[in-house]
Amino acid sequence: MAKYLIAGNSVAAVSAIQAIRSIDADGEIVVLSPERITAYCRPLITYILAGDVEEWRLPYKRESFYQQNNVKVLYGVALEGVDTEKRVAYLSDGDTMPFEKLLLAVGGKPFIPPIENVEGPDVYTYTTVSDMNALRERLAEIKRVVVVGAGMIGMKVAEALKKCGKEVTIVELMDRILPMVLDRKGSEFAERALDKAGVSYVLGDSVVGIHRDASGRVKQVELKSGTKIDCDTVVVAVGVRPNLEPVKDSGIETNRGIIVDDTLETNVEGIYAAGDCAEAYDIILGQKRPNLVWPVAYRQGFIAGLNMAGYRRRYVGGFPINSIGFFGFQVCSAGMSAVEDEVNGSFEILTYVDEEKGVYRKAVIGNNRLLGFAVIGDVRRAGLYTGLIWSRMDVSYFKDKLVTDVSFPEAIYPLEGALPAMNFSSRKSIRRFGWAVFPYSYRRLFTGYSARIEEICAFDEKGVCLYGGDDDQG
Ligand SMILES: Cc1cc2nc3c(=O)[nH]c(=O)nc-3n(C[C@H](O)[C@H](O)[C@H](O)COP(=O)(O)OP(=O)(O)OC[C@H]3O[C@@H](n4cnc5c(N)ncnc54)[C@H](O)[C@@H]3O)c2cc1C
Repeated sequence: MAKYLIAGNSVAAVSAIQAIRSIDADGEIVVLSPERITAYCRPLITYILAGDVEEWRLPYKRESFYQQNNVKVLYGVALEGVDTEKRVAYLSDGDTMPFEKLLLAVGGKPFIPPIENVEGPDVYTYTTVSDMNALRERLAEIKRVVVVGAGMIGMKVAEALKKCGKEVTIVELMDRILPMVLDRKGSEFAERALDKAGVSYVLGDSVVGIHRDASGRVKQVELKSGTKIDCDTVVVAVGVRPNLEPVKDSGIETNRGIIVDDTLETNVEGIYAAGDCAEAYDIILGQKRPNLVWPVAYRQGFIAGLNMAGYRRRYVGGFPINSIGFFGFQVCSAGMSAVEDEVNGSFEILTYVDEEKGVYRKAVIGNNRLLGFAVIGDVRRAGLYTGLIWSRMDVSYFKDKLVTDVSFPEAIYPLEGALPAMNFSSRKSIRRFGWAVFPYSYRRLFTGYSARIEEICAFDEKGVCLYGGDDDQG
């Protein structure tokens, strides 16, 4: 029997291992890893395809990590089902494995929309190393690619393929690039970068069919509008959804993801979920939802691991947070950044635009709290804004300076004593106000490394976000 069985071998699994071992030095840990490699940096796979990052950087953890932590990894083995009563896992190699505690860290799966003839050669998704290798193997013969979807993965793949010398066209159903992150104005900045790079894009249309030649090879895609685009390759990148397959019919509650409580436990005692597969509390929406980003997966995995090992820690919630750059365009965002004022009058939207310098700042405010932001061009305030979201600080005192081009956070610094909500009497309250009271550490952390995702959300040595206030109860 495995004391701790972990299904999945990526960032949520790794942080869970670290958390378990910080409390339980000996309990047996078994990891199921359908991919036959150690945990790797998924966000790097487009940069490796482009040749911007060398392949040796791909591993997130090497074999020594598992050895040092006394973890047994079953490579090539997936979780296929769970009997929650007998507390047994069904494995893809036909074996069963009894467990005491189970962590579901099985990630997400790319969503394939209904497109005629999508099955067959020359059509790819792009979320794993095998996807990268498959595309790379055919790279020399690829000339024209249609990327379906202008989300984070679609844009990164488009950039990589363009760098490889391919003719790229992006087709996006919504009327903007990065529709989960940008509004129309923000998209204009991204579109300018695409124009400059010579990348074609079609917004507000969708691919409904793929035309193949007599031997089944891709020769064209057809859009809903009737437009046809010649191509020899299609990459489908319309989004990733939580992987629910392993828990189908198990009695473990699911909605869009595997539903967890504030200890990351599912409705079945001793069975936890973390990362892209989980549906946990989102502090901005005030309800549960999947948050499919790396820092959230890391934090959830860590907190689930602590709770599995018997140390009680509460997950106060998360929210989407991102830093992405392509074709010289760069945006950092968090929370409800894509909201357009005309769509929902209940939010206050503040924007600052400097077309000449290519700078755009947007803050979305609701009930005097910052609910989301996007910064383009000059991303230095990303950390500060993130701190304001975490702290749930009343921003009405300095709202007029939030996005303007004044030096910030100095703009709010003199207000410190005047803010009734600010009470720095304990370490925790200082943490809660985050960067607002630590402008210099904010600068040191964020100005140098603005594009690195880990720095956008700062974690303490136990992997818990410094500004989120996940409560220790152990
Ligand atoms: C190209 C790309 C770029 C990205 N860029 C960014 C970025 O810039 N910033 C950011 O924050 N996020 C980014 N992401 C998202 C980020 O990588 C994910 O949020 C993160 O990897 C989620 O971690 P996870 O541990 O939950 O799951 P995953 O990393 O998805 O890993 C899931 C694990 O479960 C395993 N598994 C699957 N099925 C089973 C099964 N049945 N049984 C057992 N194991 C199973 C898989 O093999 C894998 O080991 C990017 C993702 C991609 C694909």
